[in-house]
Amino acid sequence: MNIVTLIKQVPDTTEIKIDPKTGTLIREGVESIINPDDRHAIELAITLKKDFGGKTIVISMGPPQAIDAISEAMGMGIDEGILLTDKNFGGADTWATSFTLGTAIRKLNAYDLIICGRQAIDGDTAQIGPQIAEFLGLPQLTYVRQIEEISEGKIIVRRALEDGYEKIESPLPALITVIGELNTPRYPNVDLLINACKEKAKIKTWDAADLGVTVQEIGLGGSLTRVMKTFSPKTKRVGEILKGDKEEIVNQLMERLHEKHLI
Ligand SMILES: Cc1cc2nc3c(=O)[nH]c(=O)nc-3n(C[C@H](O)[C@H](O)[C@H](O)COP(=O)(O)OP(=O)(O)OC[C@H]3O[C@@H](n4cnc5c(N)ncnc54)[C@H](O)[C@@H]3O)c2cc1C
Repeated sequence: MNIVTLIKQVPDTTEIKIDPKTGTLIREGVESIINPDDRHAIELAITLKKDFGGKTIVISMGPPQAIDAISEAMGMGIDEGILLTDKNFGGADTWATSFTLGTAIRKLNAYDLIICGRQAIDGDTAQIGPQIAEFLGLPQLTYVRQIEEISEGKIIVRRALEDGYEKIESPLPALITVIGELNTPRYPNVDLLINACKEKAKIKTWDAADLGVTVQEIGLGGSLTRVMKTFSPKTKRVGEILKGDKEEIVNQLMERLHEKHLI
């Protein structure tokens, strides 16, 4: 079974700061990590390889330093890594990102399962997995919290719902997006990690020319959306202190709550 796992290198914070002048992310001083959901995707790929054999590959699109995320994944036990990096990939919205990642997967031309995290903690859209499935014409199973069965060209999963789960069967190849409940990601193995770091040169690097794509299809040129303005919403807190004895205060409070239709 050939498994492709998509991993994103993200800033190690959920409190993204935006430069008010340029409207871009402030990345300085923030350590980068593998997106948390993607660690669960890596763990699943390694476990499935143990059970079914085959090959595990991670792909990441990002700046050259995203190679560290790939090395870490290989330190956990992934067989091969591919970094998609090119200055022309920069400024990509989710459409252009999915196009680029999807084109790389198509170039591999041999996959049974594609695993994505549900959501990246910086971009937070949860669009990449479903968009790639559409791009490749594959069935998509999102919010997967348990793999029930894989056999004879099919997969059965439980996907999380707000108040329970849904059991779905799909033919393979398919794309799944996974959530944290699925498993507990292992720590990188020291020997594998040292090997992966020593052999960084063996990690393939593909640019736009390798993918055979034009600048109109990728990065800013291939993006269907434009950020016109970014801002942090100002929160206005208006407080009111109720005065009087306890009974009066409770009555006033009840009145206010009724007025605002809160009770
Ligand atoms: C108009 C516009 C301009 C943008 N410009 C920039 C920019 O200049 N620089 C910039 O860094 N971002 C930019 N972004 C954000 C960028 O498009 C998103 O970060 C990217 O498309 C991934 O979306 P997401 O983070 O919401 O991922 P999600 O859809 O939440 O991620 C889900 C899963 O998809 C996979 N995945 C997501 N991204 C990658 C990746 N890069 N490599 C491998 N797997 C991945 C992972 O498995 C992840 O768990 C821009 C967005 C817009 C809308």
